[in-house]
Amino acid sequence: MPDLKNNSFKLYKKGDLAYLQAPFLAENGYVEHGFSTRQGGCSNGSFISLNTGFHTGDDQANVLENRRRFFELFNCDYRSIVSAVQVHGTDLHVFYRSDSGEGALPENARRHCDALITEEPHLALTAFSADCQLIYFAAKQDSPLVALAHAGWRGTLGDIGGKVIRFLKSNYGVDSSQLLAGLSPAVCKHCYIIADRVAEQFKSKGWDSPPYLETAEGSGGWGLDLTSINTRQLMRAGVKSENITANQWCTSCHPDLFYSYRRDKGLTGRMLGFIAISKT
Ligand SMILES: [Zn+2]
Repeated sequence: MPDLKNNSFKLYKKGDLAYLQAPFLAENGYVEHGFSTRQGGCSNGSFISLNTGFHTGDDQANVLENRRRFFELFNCDYRSIVSAVQVHGTDLHVFYRSDSGEGALPENARRHCDALITEEPHLALTAFSADCQLIYFAAKQDSPLVALAHAGWRGTLGDIGGKVIRFLKSNYGVDSSQLLAGLSPAVCKHCYIIADRVAEQFKSKGWDSPPYLETAEGSGGWGLDLTSINTRQLMRAGVKSENITANQWCTSCHPDLFYSYRRDKGLTGRMLGFIAISKT
């Protein structure tokens, strides 16, 4: 595995809010993107404070206010974003201008998929996580194109990143060697202990040794490294290592910044990732 640690998402603060960006996605001039933290929101209790997920048990008015605050950082109207119902699969869907706002309000997400793609400028693709990894994609070509995938263990096992790249290649002629990819904060292998039945599925696909999968000391389980596997899958699909922003943030190890489904035993909020074409 190449050492990509110097090329990780970086933390930025603005007022009470904190968010992360992948430096080379931020600097390329045609993409706007971000990954929220839990800081600077209005939610209470287990959801303190910037919970962005509707399906968490939180007050939906608070979730909307949190989204408004977050997107205000990027001069983006939170009512025009798009999102899907995440189902831990590998299906993908292309969004158009006419889809604007789909998934922006409670119960109005219609597509069941874990990867979103668009060529439309100023249409923010969004996904949600609390341990799972979000994978950002940006292709600069005659017509710029962006994508966002949600990869928990099932999506990672199913190579959702590679599937997105193959789709972009065959449907849009994207040259994967020119593709930029960013891996969001996710649960680390020391915090993500999986049982034998899940580990067996990874072993059967060749993910049977460090850094991908390793025996977890004293737990009887296995430590799974989502970031390493997703990075390798992106490279196998043709993305250059220097064009990958890796992840060095563990969602479980940083309770001040991130929600963690595992650490918080299911009662927790969600971070939001988004990517949009800022200009053509
Ligand atoms: Zn950790």
